[in-house]
Amino acid sequence: MAKTILILSDGLRYDVAKDNMGFLGHLVESKLASLYKIIGELPSMSRPMYETVHTGVPSSEHGIVANSIVRLSSKPNIFQVVKSAGKVTAAAAYYWVSELYNRAPYDRIEDKEVDNEELAIQHGRFYTQDEYPDIELFNSAAHLVRKFSPDYLLLHPMGMDYHGETYGSDSKEYRNHAIQQDAWLAPLIQEWMERDYTVMVTGDHGINRDGAHGGTTPEQREVPLFMIQPNVKGRGDTGEIISQLKIAPTILKLLDVPIPETMKQKPL
Ligand SMILES: [Zn+2]
Repeated sequence: MAKTILILSDGLRYDVAKDNMGFLGHLVESKLASLYKIIGELPSMSRPMYETVHTGVPSSEHGIVANSIVRLSSKPNIFQVVKSAGKVTAAAAYYWVSELYNRAPYDRIEDKEVDNEELAIQHGRFYTQDEYPDIELFNSAAHLVRKFSPDYLLLHPMGMDYHGETYGSDSKEYRNHAIQQDAWLAPLIQEWMERDYTVMVTGDHGINRDGAHGGTTPEQREVPLFMIQPNVKGRGDTGEIISQLKIAPTILKLLDVPIPETMKQKPL
């Protein structure tokens, strides 16, 4: 059983992550991590993909087909399954995640910080502003790990999406933010590995040079999956292309929790 942290970097493109995130690149190069390319599910929109990542089913099945659909998840999902197995869940994430797994619509005061074992996300720290600084969110996540040792933690920063939508993906601001995220994450990933966490880094979708996403081009769909497992040799850059639907069953397998029948993809 390995406790797991999923870093879901909103709007993180595969090519930009591979070219600019040097600490992650070091882990890949030295076979401490494995790198896969994910062809993201569609539509390449945020809320639908948060749900796809957490349920392992496509948007037409889980029904969150647009950002405008504000309701709780109706499918077995990582938070609910892990919590039902008696394990501890946590998230530092955008408020749409709270709306999918804790309560909808979001109450900006009541739901912002929660520590409640009855909730699917038992320890939640949420934000509502897209420009909320990633470093502040990373520190919240690091605090949750030290304080609660969650079995599953979601860390979901918005900085890549914010810089991509503001300046376009072919911009120094977007690329430099990937460098910055990597530098902020490096000491945290090191600490979490020492605490025996498996750490996965991926994106919900990519983004194009217009600063848009939602469509079907590689720029909008392709995201990385870096997988860092303590005491397990990584495979380096695998060159393999995998389905985004594998993320949920892979995490449940790592946590030694039964995988629901709705998650049809084989775990990594
Ligand atoms: Zn997004």
